[in-house]
Amino acid sequence: MDSFIHFDGVSKSFGTMKVVDNLDFHVGRGEFVSLLGPSGSGKTTLLMMLAGFEAPTSGALLVDGTRVENLPSYKRNMGVVFQNYALFPHMTIAENVAFPLKMRGVGRARRDARVAKALDLVRLGHLKDRKPSQLSGGQQQRIALSRALVYEPKVVLMDEPLSALDKQLREHMQLEIRELHRKLGLTVIFVTHDQGEALTMSDRVAVLNLGKIEQLDTPSGLYDRPRTRFVAEFIGETN
Ligand code: ADP
Repeated sequence: MDSFIHFDGVSKSFGTMKVVDNLDFHVGRGEFVSLLGPSGSGKTTLLMMLAGFEAPTSGALLVDGTRVENLPSYKRNMGVVFQNYALFPHMTIAENVAFPLKMRGVGRARRDARVAKALDLVRLGHLKDRKPSQLSGGQQQRIALSRALVYEPKVVLMDEPLSALDKQLREHMQLEIRELHRKLGLTVIFVTHDQGEALTMSDRVAVLNLGKIEQLDTPSGLYDRPRTRFVAEFIGETN
């Protein structure tokens, strides 16, 4: 698997507080990697830097050989999905999904075709004329996913996308996201504080604690051979 995303000595401080501490790691093209750790361990900050919303204080962050901060947002080609969906309430579902394309100046006809395809991926084309408030939480989250996929990104960043859903729906969506990852050949960075979710979904999991990676390993590697006490205890909480 070729290396696609690189964190090279990346640190991030807010004031005097270092929240990401000299991280070095690589993610392969097409890999599904979770960032797992307790609240405050730096997961979201890592994702924000990857999305280009925050700049590292030091170090370099590269996607496909280019530093993220040198890429204008329309060239970053990353889809982003957050926990709270962030759909626009006054727009229809189709308008919500079309929004990233409109921002990039894609014309009406191409936009409509892409929106239909993206809604098809989450099997919700029939709801395209509804407003977000007329959809269930699970449906809204699938629309957010569809919107993230509409400009056919290579990388999808997800920040706790399922934590607002009930257990049954969450498990169903875990399978759906895995399936989309496989089918579309996406590179996925998935933030979660849920050990079970990270272990079920990921090719590899980075366990974070206080801005450092305690262990980056396959689910079975983490489970069978935890390298630190923190990892053993954190992963052990799934039992
Ligand atoms: P996690 O996603 O693992 O919960 P975060 O990356 O959100 O962790 O936060 C890591 C630390 O950085 C926390 O202590 C948080 O309060 C702090 N932090 C995050 N964003 C900012 C910001 N914009 N300004 C100041 N502190 C921040």
